[in-house]
Amino acid sequence: MLNPDAECMNLKTNEDQGDTPHVLSRDHHAISRVNIDSNALKVLYRLHRSGYIAYLVGGSVRDLMLGRKPKDFDVATDARPSKIKKLFRNAILIGRRFRLAHIRFKTGLIEVSTFRKEGSLLEDDSTDRDRISRMHNTFGSPCEDAFRRDFTINALYYNIANFTIIDYTGGLHDLKCGLIRAIGDPIERFGDDPVRMIRAIRAATRVGFAIEASTFEAICAQHKLILTSSPSRLFEEMQILLKMGGSRSALKYMMRTSLFSTLFPEIATIYERTDPVRQDLFFKLFGALDWMTNLHGEQSGQILWGTMFLACLFLQLPLSFSIRRDSDRLRRVLEDTFRIIECIGIRYSIPRRQRSIIRAILQDFPYLLYPKPGSTKFRNFPKRSHFQDAMRLLAIFGHATGRLSLVLKWERP
Ligand code: ATP
Ligand code: MG
Repeated sequence: MLNPDAECMNLKTNEDQGDTPHVLSRDHHAISRVNIDSNALKVLYRLHRSGYIAYLVGGSVRDLMLGRKPKDFDVATDARPSKIKKLFRNAILIGRRFRLAHIRFKTGLIEVSTFRKEGSLLEDDSTDRDRISRMHNTFGSPCEDAFRRDFTINALYYNIANFTIIDYTGGLHDLKCGLIRAIGDPIERFGDDPVRMIRAIRAATRVGFAIEASTFEAICAQHKLILTSSPSRLFEEMQILLKMGGSRSALKYMMRTSLFSTLFPEIATIYERTDPVRQDLFFKLFGALDWMTNLHGEQSGQILWGTMFLACLFLQLPLSFSIRRDSDRLRRVLEDTFRIIECIGIRYSIPRRQRSIIRAILQDFPYLLYPKPGSTKFRNFPKRSHFQDAMRLLAIFGHATGRLSLVLKWERP
């Protein structure tokens, strides 16, 4: 999968780089302080002036290198949490075992972590909680901190002291080549924290990169391990994946790696049994969700999961069903879908309120598609509490099926 681009080949990958970082001086990269959040700059400068190492790290460096707007700015330092707390009156320490500082500003929050290393796993570390607490337990060097991170492009540092980029893991190489590559042995790293498999897909679709071959194969080989992660982390990672504006290609990756059938077996079984037209509609609905996200910003949980269950419903229905002729089938399919909402909803703790809104919208969906203007029901429908969410899901459905005019039927003069 490597791109044989000449420039790409001049940079080292993490296999041949060892512990000596590749350092890119200020005039050899495009990161400018103008594009760094002013709160992050304040934090970096105060740490630096107090004699500590202060690096910007993670997704923000990756995104700035790619000329994209970062979602959040994380800082890594050699200052211990208690020192960070003393330096910043607006800092609170969070986390029981490994303490992170959240520095709160009126316009947002900057997360500051002390360099740490990944602790080795013990045989009795069978649960997600065991693994996470052991993984994040010991302070370390900048190099160790880089190697405990998930992917090479997420482990680059921007040093506020001299504006250089520091690369211990081969991230610059992979950034040039457009690759998401696990740091170290992917089989081991995904075994240590299976949520990284979803994060690989999320990172790839967020920046439009390919997943490097051995990283991809490790996900395919170990997809079942994902079930040992805690439901709350899975819910959180899945929700980020659905709301980032690239859910369609992320879900394609999830199907190809079998992560989807492991996490959502109820929907995967229906998907596998249905015909290509409905399979295609399944992905078109997520394409429409991405369109909505790019148009109006991040969507609420009921819209994200609503799209998932609407897609599940239409895997089982012909697009042009008739409410009267197909009423028995419609009832059966709705009942089945409600059962699936409960199973998946309880498994991943999708909030009860969101589940009930989604159920109400799906129940109404046939009527939303075929309203009877002029009737009392039609007049009263917009008074329902979930009407705005229903209109959004109808627009997503309309976009996916090339029938955006469906929404117009509901517009008031
Ligand atoms: P996004 O743009 O979606 O926020 P991100 O890479 O910044 O992407 P975060 O969840 O904000 O993702 O995490 C910040 C950084 O922390 C990552 O870039 C990575 O270096 C590190 N990280 C997060 N989760 C893990 C994990 N499970 N294992 C190893 N490193 C991780
Ligand atoms: Mg981030």
